[in-house]
Amino acid sequence: MVRHLEKEDNFGDWYLDIVEKANLSDKRYPIKGMNVWTPYGWKAMRNIDHFIRKELDATRHDEVCFPLMIPETEFKKEKDHIKGFDSEVYWVTHAGVNELDVRLVLRPTSETAMYPMFALWVRSHQDLPLKVYQIVNTFRYETKQTRAFMRVREIHFFESHTCHVSEEDAQRQIEEDVEILSKIAKRLCLPYFLSVRTDWDKFPGAYYTVGIDTVMPNGKSLQIGSIHHYRTNFSEPYEITYEDENGEHKHAHQTTYGMSERLLGAIIGIHSDDKGLIMPPDIAPFQAVIIPILSKDNGPLVTEAARALEAKLSEYGIRVKLDDRDARPGSKYYDWEIKGVPLRLELGGRDIENKVVTFARRDTGEKGTIEIENIGQGVELILRMISSSLLEKAQASQLSKLQEIDSLDEIPEGKVLRLGWCGCEECGHKFEDSFDLKILGNPYAKKEGYAGKCIICGKDTGMSVLAARTM
Ligand code: ZN
Repeated sequence: MVRHLEKEDNFGDWYLDIVEKANLSDKRYPIKGMNVWTPYGWKAMRNIDHFIRKELDATRHDEVCFPLMIPETEFKKEKDHIKGFDSEVYWVTHAGVNELDVRLVLRPTSETAMYPMFALWVRSHQDLPLKVYQIVNTFRYETKQTRAFMRVREIHFFESHTCHVSEEDAQRQIEEDVEILSKIAKRLCLPYFLSVRTDWDKFPGAYYTVGIDTVMPNGKSLQIGSIHHYRTNFSEPYEITYEDENGEHKHAHQTTYGMSERLLGAIIGIHSDDKGLIMPPDIAPFQAVIIPILSKDNGPLVTEAARALEAKLSEYGIRVKLDDRDARPGSKYYDWEIKGVPLRLELGGRDIENKVVTFARRDTGEKGTIEIENIGQGVELILRMISSSLLEKAQASQLSKLQEIDSLDEIPEGKVLRLGWCGCEECGHKFEDSFDLKILGNPYAKKEGYAGKCIICGKDTGMSVLAARTM
């Protein structure tokens, strides 16, 4: 079990190995950090996008598509925002041989592309709330080591942007975003936690930021998204105003919610094992693969039955693949295990006689049979069981990596820590710098109170924060 050791001890290399073997993305494109989506990887990402669209549409967001380039003049209007992105953006300086009068930036995110238009779209309180989203590529010049899906320079990105009449209404949007996230994450079998980021770590220009983090098997945290409340920080410079019932002009309150292809990175990191990927059924490009088990004398019969099975499952709405390549079943098993197909269906002469299909679960290896007559319902039921067991296992793993500490004498490795903090920046920076840990923030939903001491200065405090090494 050498590979198992690798996942535990050398997560970074193990992860890249899995991405490559499962052929999810091709990093040989001649720009570092800009990888090519392969058909298999893109199918999985599109399935993730499908659930994002479904939830956003259901909560009355409208999908839009804004231009990729943003004029420097618009990009610079919000001062903190430009400072925050200064070192990460790509500039377009020429059109043909002519130098541009106004340089153009490739969107690192789309606030500054959308808000000049929002200023034109929003006129009266009847135009609010304005709720739009887009799923597009964004560009950030990542200076750290790049890693497929987790740290790339061209990012497959989801972003929703909203405008509201008041801070309270914008706050209700944040609550709705949290609800939307919980539904999407369930489909992806992803556990996560929400932390209100520190002031020095919030989104440039935000009033506050809620980070969405999950824990990798090596105990490092991975940010998979964020939700921001802007108050009027952007609507003021961009002049997004509306006329209220009394004819008064007011600035809109705004929020955003963003997630990216890191969701796929998190899925790979959390669910895969030493044999390869394990795809959550809802996003698996193929939910089931059929392997015909042929013998010398029953070839045509089994092939025909396998085709009929494929048609029946497909008609039922299962994403199914018939592997009728001329290869040994064992080597086919191996290939689909690497690709993480949740359910393998084997069909041989004896199965046909008994009117059943033999199945094997990718996650647990459990085997059994399903009656052909009820194959659709049977497969659907097992897929649902795989989903819930993947989520439970991942939740238990996340829980096992959380640890409370009340002293700096011994900082455990490979854990997400909960500790007391007085809230002052000096203590926060001192903690982060001394231990190479990042304060993720204090829990967004504070159910139980905290009574402890700041781990740096020892002052009594009611605030606890989570801290971790980050991917
Ligand atoms: Zn302190």
